[in-house]
Amino acid sequence: MNTADKRRLGLYLHIPFCISKCAYCDFYSYVPKNDNIYERYTNALISHMEYYKSSAAGCAPDSVYIGGGTPTSLPSEHLLKIVRAVKKNFSLAKNAEFTIEANPATVDVSLLRKLRWAGVNRISFGLQSADQRELKALSRVHSKAEFEESYYAARRAKIENISVDLMFGIPHQTTESLLRSIDYVTRLEPEHISLYNLKIEPNTQFGKIGAANLPLPDEDEEFRMYMHACHMLEERGYKQYEISNFAKPGKMSKHNLKYWNCEEYLGLGPSAHSYFNGTRFSFIPSINQYLKGIENMGSEVIISDGSEQIGGRAMMGEYIMLRLRLSDGIPLGEFRRRFGYDFEEMYGDKLTPYIKNGYMTRGRDNIALTPRGMFVSNFILSDILSFADLNAISPAAEF
Ligand code: SF4
Repeated sequence: MNTADKRRLGLYLHIPFCISKCAYCDFYSYVPKNDNIYERYTNALISHMEYYKSSAAGCAPDSVYIGGGTPTSLPSEHLLKIVRAVKKNFSLAKNAEFTIEANPATVDVSLLRKLRWAGVNRISFGLQSADQRELKALSRVHSKAEFEESYYAARRAKIENISVDLMFGIPHQTTESLLRSIDYVTRLEPEHISLYNLKIEPNTQFGKIGAANLPLPDEDEEFRMYMHACHMLEERGYKQYEISNFAKPGKMSKHNLKYWNCEEYLGLGPSAHSYFNGTRFSFIPSINQYLKGIENMGSEVIISDGSEQIGGRAMMGEYIMLRLRLSDGIPLGEFRRRFGYDFEEMYGDKLTPYIKNGYMTRGRDNIALTPRGMFVSNFILSDILSFADLNAISPAAEF
């Protein structure tokens, strides 16, 4: 079968290693005690790809994302081996987006050139802030100068699609310092910028210290930060297309859009999640159990962290939750066609006050959150999703 006729798929590969653990991070990642683990993990991940080769034979991944952790903390020969194994085991679609996450200070132009030659065409840099005090508060290992060096190295390596991550709500941050970071990054003209809100998660260093003991901006300041940031990014040519994501025209992340559009993706590695063949599943967030599972049995049972068939109403709830993250929101016609319900009939009473007060907007054929609504999206989503009594509404068509 020609790749053009195959099902589209996102492929995610998790690299769980970092150079040091950031104070706020609750991703599954750790700092290895010795270097032996790198080769062992690379081989296990490649075996995992080989295991899925046949079940994904009908798919042509049009996005590949190597994330972590810090993928570029792997020795380059292993990282390149993984990139080559992707191309060997999956028939990538023409013009597939191939992203690697990189921390500044873990890449140089020579590695970036090799990655580019091997097929990587997009780099996502975790900068987080251009303010040295804020970087230190986050315990990031790189400086602004190191980021800049890595950024230009990527351009010299002919990587034409670069994304930069920033954060707001960082200790010591003010609206002015956030806007200075955005001003700095937009002047470099990356194709894509992500802006995440720092959350204090329990199992992190910050979680142990406690939010009350950290010099965090208060919620009103965070709201100001977000609104000003969205405005400034739009003004500089970065269209907001999701709560935390902004892109130049045509440069939205193909890979992340798969998550929000409820499309298929296959995630391999410890803690990686998938939605593949109508089932959601994930792999165990433990490197030891993952390695044992792959090396001893090659068995899904050993490393699976649970799975769930998603269909009907569960899928509708997920669709609402994920689509409302996007600036385009819920396309009403598509919703009706896909689920057989009228979105406005289901949620009308609940939506009206949000629309009236500027948290949501009703377009010609869609309902979406505004930036003001996106700032409190968790509240709005749980309010809406707990509201509809589906049993009281008759579907306009069968599922
Ligand atoms: S570099 Fe990224 S994955 Fe690693 S500890 Fe820091 S935030 Fe977490």
